[in-house]
Amino acid sequence: MNQPLETIFSKIIRREIPADIVYEDNLAIAFRDVSPQAPVHVLVIPKQPIAQLSDAGSQDHALMGHLLLTAKRVADQLNLSQGYRVVINNGPDGGQTVSHLHLHLLGGRQMQWPPG
Ligand code: AMP
Repeated sequence: MNQPLETIFSKIIRREIPADIVYEDNLAIAFRDVSPQAPVHVLVIPKQPIAQLSDAGSQDHALMGHLLLTAKRVADQLNLSQGYRVVINNGPDGGQTVSHLHLHLLGGRQMQWPPG
């Protein structure tokens, strides 16, 4: 069987390519984005590879909550006391480029609204 959910993030999880990992537990891993869009730009991903948010189902209820709380935990860990933004790009119109669900945690500067 093919592995359609194999992405560069799978390789990061398996430590096959380097990443600046800032947090890890049995369900999730968080690492710095290689092309940061803010002074702090971390990606929080599930170890179980869901391609995108729109593929998540009721069976992923607890995992989705865990990812959001992980983003909060990492924000606290990285001292984003002035605030931060959490973004999920979903599918082509959402600007998603890696087909492994991920939360962008952005902070360390004033964010603008609306996003592009
Ligand atoms: P998205 O466009 O929402 O799918 O976000 C994918 C993100 O993954 C982008 O911000 C990329 O800069 C980031 N990215 C791609 N490859 C790597 C990598 N090897 N290590 C860390 N971040 C990466």
